[in-house]
Parts: sequence; structure tokens; C-alpha cells
Amino acid sequence: MPAAEAPPRPRSTATIPLAGTGDGLTEVADALARAVGGAQAAQRPAGPLPAGAPHDVLGAVTSRLGPAVVPATGIGADAALHRVAKLLVEQGINLTHPFAAAHLQPPPLAVAVAADALAGASNASQDTYDSGPAGIAVERWLVAALAGLAGFGAEADGVLTPGGSLSNLMAVMFARDSVARRLGVDVRADGVAALGTPVVFCSELAHFSTHRACAVLGLGESAVRAVPVDADRRMRPDALVEMLAELDSGEIPLAVVATAGTTDFGSVDPLPEIAEIAREHGMWFHADAAYGFGALFSDRLAPRVAGLELADSITVDLHKIGWQPSAASVLLVSDGTAFSSLERQVDYLNPADDGEQGYDGLLGVSLQTTRRPDAVKVATTLLAYGREGLGRMLDTCHDLARHAETRILGDPELELVAGANLTTVVFRYRGTAAEACLDELNGTLRRELLRSGRALLGRTSAFVDGPGAPSVTCLKFTLLNPNAGVADIDALLDLVVTTGRELATRPCTRTDADAHQEGAA
Ligand SMILES: *Cc1c(COP(=O)(O)O)cnc(C)c1O
Repeated sequence: MPAAEAPPRPRSTATIPLAGTGDGLTEVADALARAVGGAQAAQRPAGPLPAGAPHDVLGAVTSRLGPAVVPATGIGADAALHRVAKLLVEQGINLTHPFAAAHLQPPPLAVAVAADALAGASNASQDTYDSGPAGIAVERWLVAALAGLAGFGAEADGVLTPGGSLSNLMAVMFARDSVARRLGVDVRADGVAALGTPVVFCSELAHFSTHRACAVLGLGESAVRAVPVDADRRMRPDALVEMLAELDSGEIPLAVVATAGTTDFGSVDPLPEIAEIAREHGMWFHADAAYGFGALFSDRLAPRVAGLELADSITVDLHKIGWQPSAASVLLVSDGTAFSSLERQVDYLNPADDGEQGYDGLLGVSLQTTRRPDAVKVATTLLAYGREGLGRMLDTCHDLARHAETRILGDPELELVAGANLTTVVFRYRGTAAEACLDELNGTLRRELLRSGRALLGRTSAFVDGPGAPSVTCLKFTLLNPNAGVADIDALLDLVVTTGRELATRPCTRTDADAHQEGAA
């Protein structure tokens, strides 16, 4: 009798398409191709945003989704993808449009999005070896590479986080715990009360996430002391020294947070001076380089962030300069022992004997447990473009910002407020409007462009007449599209000026009823 052949593997008659690293990748590619079909069938808005008031745009999305209930039966993957793809094109944002210039939100590189889809398809997690070995090695490789670029030594370590806000939170936590250890206080067990009154210094232009971090960590927002800036919008070291000298006896200086690339202006605090002051006073030195770290990719701009290597920790957002889809933030520390704050042994995840044999993962360096392998897209991008490729993209965006600055300076209807440090330019439309009308005029101008969908500008408030002077409402370009050209900047500024002229003919005193109507629209 011939040997029986192995029976064929039974196939389910109702196979559900699952993503994965084998056949699952084909399923993902097929689904994506069908979604792209839906997107191509969509009516693309002419500008970076859909035209219409927010109420109408948001309402259009909701009505296409149908009643806000969990549907009893589904319409199937193809129809669902088709519908959502269309809606994202028609009511979403198009960051590849050269007039998309509002936030630190770049058009992401296609290679990064593709790599992110691969990582997502595998659904690997960074916490333990058995939830996905490759991603863990990729993250360790990436952290080492970025630490090297920062100028950190062999003791450095780091972790990917869901954003600069969270990276800053971890940095303040490490600052708190490092000072607590020195004072013999066990914060993790006993809370922060035993620390006295902790104080965290940052400039008055620092990102609000430092304040939030202090609140979350139990230090209170009152722990934050805002150090004044100079005319170039950089923290004044002399003022920091003065504020340190004025601390009460119970106040403990925990940390100084220097910003390397303020969100609005790209200004970089004087890192070497601040490092020296931090060292003298036993403070943790955190550099919030969420925006500015990418300057290290460029030979031209790297000198602007010199001194980063002196920090105890650095926040890096590669979903800003780095052209990654969010989130791709990294917290780097110069001495990896800082992560002892997060050490944790969990029997079902990382028992000691597994760890000794190398079966642990990155659980002990993160506030998260399950964690996406965000390092994959960043590592793929670094392999694809190298420092040189990314540096060239940044130089292009910096050139665009300098061009905008020159154009604004040469236009009598515009007023330059802050020039191009990195890739932002802050300015006002003035025309012939009275000074008292300018705040309202610039605010309205930006909303008018958003409503028409034609251009997406940023907005902030800033001093014009030097530090301490009142802040005025300004417009902001954040230029992160390396495919845009100077002609795009010219056309965008022309649009700002013509819109400003039109609006300047309207009376400027806004009544309460106007404000109310705007709120309801
Ligand atoms: C963007 C930014 C942050 C916050 O980062 P998210 O990734 O948006 O959470 C923090 N600091 C600075 C200077 C930033 O520009």
C-alpha cells in the first residue's frame, strides 16, 4: 500500500483578509490599491483645505458616515475604504499643496508612509522580544544613530514616544527623579511632596508641554518659571542666573528646559551658556529640540544648534523636520541609567530569567506597554535618503523661508516680525490700516483664507517692538514642503496681500454680535 499523502490543509470558506508579514502583505496592498481608487474618484479641492465654513465641512463628513451608531451590518471593506478615502481627500488636508504652510506638519515622505504600513501590517510591539524582535533591533539602531548625530557618547540611550509633548514629559520626569535621588528622596514610592518646592526653568517662548509635564508629574504648573527672552527671542542666561539667585530656601531648582527651535520662530536658546548654568546649580539640562534637531542634517544649519551635545536629554520630533507621518518623536538621554525610573518587572512580559537570556524588549524604557514600531519608518527614511538627502530638503525649506523674508521686507503692505531662523517666518499684513485694527485684520485674513480653502497659514502673537513690548496678532509661514519653489512663495504672498486689501475696506470694530455669529457659524 502506498504511503498516505498528507491531507491538504483545510481552508476556511469564509477567510477574513488579515494583515501580516506573509500573505497578509498582499491583502494590505490590495486593500490599499482599492482605497487609492476611491481617492482618485474624489473631487480634489483646489487648495490645501476644502472650501467652506468649519460647520459645513465637518457636517459633510458626518453625513457621509451616516448616523452615529455602530452599524448593525457592514458595507464591506471595499465600500468602506472607498468612502473614507474619498472623504479624506474631499474634506481633509493636502499637505503637498505648496500653500499649506501653517504648522510643523510636513507632507510625509512616501517611503516613510510605506514603511509605516509594513510595520502596521506586522502589528509588532516594542515591549518584549516575543512581540516582535525586528522592531526592537531597529529602534536600538535608530536611537544609537540619532544619539551619535546629537554628539552623545557611548552611555547614551533613548526611546521613541508618541510626540514631543510626551518626550518632554519623560525628560521632566527624569529631571525630577535624578534630583530626587541626589536628595535621597524616593519619588516613585513616596510622591513629590518630600521634594520641597521644585522649580523648572524655561524661556517665556517654551512649548506649553513643559507646563503640562509639571502638572502631570505632580510638580504643579506653578513650578515653571518663565525666563525672559532677548530681541532675537532666545532665553537670556543673565536673567536665568538672576532668577536662580532669587529662589527661596525651600525651592529646589530641578531643571532648565532650553528650546532649540521655538515653535513659532525657530529661535535657539544659547545652549552652551545654559548648560554651564545648569551644571553649576546641579540642574538637569533638557533641550527641547522637537523642531530644531533636524538642523543637524544640514551642514549649513547644524551650527545653529551647537551645544545640544551638552544636554542631559533631548526631545527630537522627526514628524516635523524629518518628514515622517506622526508620531515619530524620540527622547534621547546622555546617560541611559536615567531609565531606571521606568524599570518594571512583569511576570507575563519580562520575567528575570527571560531577560537574562535576551528575551526582554523595550518595556523598561517606555511609559507605554503595547507600542507601535515607529522606529521602522524613520530607519527606512535614514537608509533611503541619508543625512545628505534630508539636509538638502531642509536647506530647500530654509531657502524658501529666506525668500519669504526678503519678499516681506520689500513689500510696503507687509511687516516682518521675525525672519527665517529655520523654516518659519512671522509677519503682519499692514496695508494702510490703523494700528488698532491690525490684530483683527490679520486674524480675519487668516480665517478668510482657511474658509476659502485657498491657503493654510499659521498664526501667533509676538512682540514687534522688542522684548517686553505688547504682543500683536501675526501671520506665520511654516515652510516644510521641499517640493515648493520661490514662485509658490511669491504667489502665496500675493494672495495674502490681495486678501488683506479686500478685508481692509471693511470697518474694523468687531461687535459682540459678530463674535457670536462667528462662533455659531
Ligand atoms: C511641536 C513641539 C512640541 C510638541 O511636540 P508634539 O509632537 O506636537 O507633541 C514641543 N516642543 C516644541 C518646541 C515643539 O515645536
